[in-house]
Amino acid sequence: MILESTITCPACGTAETETMPTDACQFFYDCTGCGVLLRPKPGDCCVFCSYGTVPCPPVQAEGGLTCCRAATPPAPSPADPR
Ligand SMILES: [Zn+2]
Repeated sequence: MILESTITCPACGTAETETMPTDACQFFYDCTGCGVLLRPKPGDCCVFCSYGTVPCPPVQAEGGLTCCRAATPPAPSPADPR
């Protein structure tokens, strides 16, 4: 299983290699280049599936058929503390 995925920011093009958690999906990601808050595209479970070079570990393990995408995604927080 591949645990490192390179996320490419759709806003500024910055590519950053990140280590993915194996037990959870990362729903939000702060771009290291422009600071934009990335969130998954519709139908994707996490930012790695949407913007990374490698899909998240649960997708790799299940062949992409089942994932946390079947669960209710966390509600986007309208009031980001930053
Ligand atoms: Zn960016």
